[in-house]
Amino acid sequence: MSDLNEFSKTAPKLETVDAESIPSVVEPRSGSSKLKFGENTSRKKNIPKGLWTKCRKCAELIFDKDLDDNLKTCPTCGFHFPISARLRLASLIDEKSFKELDAGMTSVDILEFTGVDSYSSKLEKYKDKTGEADAVITGVCKMQHHKVAIGIMDFSFLGGSMGSVVGEKLTRMIELGTKNKIPVVIISTSGGARMYEGMFSLMQMAKTCGALAYHSEANLPYISVLTHPTTAGVMASYASVGDLILAEPGAMIGFAGPRVIKDTTQAELPPGFQTAEFLMDRGMIDAIVPRNKMRHSIINYLDYMSANVSKPKAKRAVKKKTS
Ligand SMILES: [Zn+2]
Repeated sequence: MSDLNEFSKTAPKLETVDAESIPSVVEPRSGSSKLKFGENTSRKKNIPKGLWTKCRKCAELIFDKDLDDNLKTCPTCGFHFPISARLRLASLIDEKSFKELDAGMTSVDILEFTGVDSYSSKLEKYKDKTGEADAVITGVCKMQHHKVAIGIMDFSFLGGSMGSVVGEKLTRMIELGTKNKIPVVIISTSGGARMYEGMFSLMQMAKTCGALAYHSEANLPYISVLTHPTTAGVMASYASVGDLILAEPGAMIGFAGPRVIKDTTQAELPPGFQTAEFLMDRGMIDAIVPRNKMRHSIINYLDYMSANVSKPKAKRAVKKKTS
């Protein structure tokens, strides 16, 4: 029995898959249906643990190795599963080109926040769980011929929330980009500002956008990539001010969640509200790019944007000479 419980923890939806498919076959003999379920359970016991994942969209069972090979996207319907910041980083940049910045920077429980759990104990828990010091990894890397300052958020660390460390690490990375005259790419996924740091986390919105403004003044490209979900304080600051805004298919993007908006406005929301596709139709997003094409697309866009960066500068130089 304990074996069965343990199994259902690792593959929680397997029971449902068979239960759904069997009744139509065995319905006429309802008395024997229990036996049929039992038979199937014993068959499922033979499936080794942690090898299969059920797609949340199309319910297909995916071999975990196939899921990993496919950058955590469903080979059948293209559903994008969550992916860790490190795996995403590896999928985007040139091998062995990453120099991490401020890897050891960690948050301080400045407000001595206590709820069900204290903030400091939560921090420790998530550090152990994810192996990361906070919800963002920043650094400098190469993407083919482009040197890029990059920041990648990790939703598995406290919901990718933006506290002082996330804001500071991103700001330093952007400032390094400005100083070295290189493009900035930020891949966001976040529930918003980190409530455990109150006003200090809200201040990160202005700080990161200020650094991006200097980067923009230097005529340097900034690509913002929105992944599921990008919401609240992060969407209301650096994630939404990209020169180019890309999104992964099906990502939920917005300020407040659809349920909150529906409760507040008491109005029916249109279908697909706050998805990447919905925002793309309304001009909030420039392109929707599947995960397996993201590296290639970013490099292409950087080629184009970098080429365009040099043109206005040349024009300005000509103007100065003639005047
Ligand atoms: Zn699927």
